[in-house]
Amino acid sequence: MFQKVFIISGLILTLLLLVISISNLIIPASVFDMILEYGIFFIWAWYFVFIFFFLVIKRKKKTKQVSLYTCLYLTNVCSEDCPYCYFRRTNKDLKRRTLNFEQVKQEVAVIKELGVNNVIVIGGTLVGVEYESLVLRTVSWLISEGMVPWLELDNPSAKLLKRLKAAGADHFILFQETYNQELFAKLHENNLVKNNFLQRLEVIDRAVQAGFINIGIGALFGLSPSVDQEISGLVDHAQRLLAKGVNVCVFVPTVKHPAYDLISAQQLDQIITAVRVALPQVSIGLSGREPAELRDRLFLLVDQIGTGGVTNPGGRTVYKDEYEAGNKQFVLADLREPTEITESLKKQGVKVVNNFSWRNENEKEDT
Ligand code: SF4
Repeated sequence: MFQKVFIISGLILTLLLLVISISNLIIPASVFDMILEYGIFFIWAWYFVFIFFFLVIKRKKKTKQVSLYTCLYLTNVCSEDCPYCYFRRTNKDLKRRTLNFEQVKQEVAVIKELGVNNVIVIGGTLVGVEYESLVLRTVSWLISEGMVPWLELDNPSAKLLKRLKAAGADHFILFQETYNQELFAKLHENNLVKNNFLQRLEVIDRAVQAGFINIGIGALFGLSPSVDQEISGLVDHAQRLLAKGVNVCVFVPTVKHPAYDLISAQQLDQIITAVRVALPQVSIGLSGREPAELRDRLFLLVDQIGTGGVTNPGGRTVYKDEYEAGNKQFVLADLREPTEITESLKKQGVKVVNNFSWRNENEKEDT
């Protein structure tokens, strides 16, 4: 684009000089000298002013943008028994809670005060009409409050997905957890729903069929000893989804459970860089599980940033005390307020916008 403007401006300048030269033949010499003296100066001045303003506009257009998101847990009741998760049904230490709609509204009010617009609606694997109705009402409420619901549900039926889409939801997330099929089977052998690798992939396809245009996927790094295999699985999956015409956000959560290997800061750096290079057109989501110092370093590479979260239903309001006493799915490491995150991003020249596209606009060519 810049080259085009440069060439066109150059052509206009040449044309003007040509007009001046020709005018030498038809106008008196004294007038021509005056034009030569002042005219050329103004033409060149115009040219440089034009180029200067163009560069300023171009710089503005290239400012990196991100969105913030947070989580809204509806329940921690779960029929599944994933060994890496504190919500697993065999964890007898966890107090089981499911919010009613009034409690959901209280949580939404707090999120609204935080100023975070994108809200992941999440919580357990609860089968039943009552839960479906709570999810639907929550989605409608969030939209009516000017927020954007991102749904993270393990086992939604095609019918529920269509109803959620009709209610105005456009974002659906489901982590495959691991792209190693054998490991997936082993980890989930005691599960009732989340126990089939291919069926889990199909849930995402079902969401695409229902019309969800923004699809989030992820591997829980640390479950598998092979980080490379997880990256390759994620990249393949993202490419298949991109071929279907949807926007994709790749989340890169790391497992935070003492039974599993911790992913080092350097490894997470490499994972995000690899995903960014392999998939420049996708968004990358960064969770608040990672420590502040590491996240600050990664902000320039990602597009969707988790903040202001709690990892248990009612953790901001009705069950705040329980949450603070340890009743949670996992521990968040970066506990900075969204305003602090926004400030840190600003210092790095990154602008926070409400609903940044999951088709990574930062990587779009400036045409
Ligand atoms: S990971 Fe999901 S499905 Fe598994 S136990 Fe936790 S909440 Fe339930």
